[in-house]
Amino acid sequence: MPILFGWGKTTVRDHGECIAATCPRCHNSVILHHVQLTVWFTLFFIPVIPYKRKRMLMCDICRWSRDIPASAAVASDEMNAITANWRSGTMTESDYAQSVDAYWSFVSNDGQRTQSRPSESDVEQNETFNPDA
Ligand SMILES: [Zn+2]
Repeated sequence: MPILFGWGKTTVRDHGECIAATCPRCHNSVILHHVQLTVWFTLFFIPVIPYKRKRMLMCDICRWSRDIPASAAVASDEMNAITANWRSGTMTESDYAQSVDAYWSFVSNDGQRTQSRPSESDVEQNETFNPDA
């Protein structure tokens, strides 16, 4: 009996609502989901070894997505929790806005800063952003 193995089976895990933003593609005000893709080595069609993992932010409406750098994985998990607090009303809008800006400057240190929300008064958060990084 031949041993059947393969690569490329991909599973998707949705970590839930991660961050409020205006989607750059469909321009809806959405809460981007924190999604993790895992590509598996399979044996007899059963996923055995994950060999590639990728995290993304995804628009629930149009499926636009952008990669989350590995360095921002922990920050993204934290942002999930922060957004849950904000959604349940235990966090003020201004506190949430600060967290959102801090998160974007962290995620976007690859130079692709996304204009995620209408700019407001708290612009000082930009000081960690380095477009040449
Ligand atoms: Zn969208």
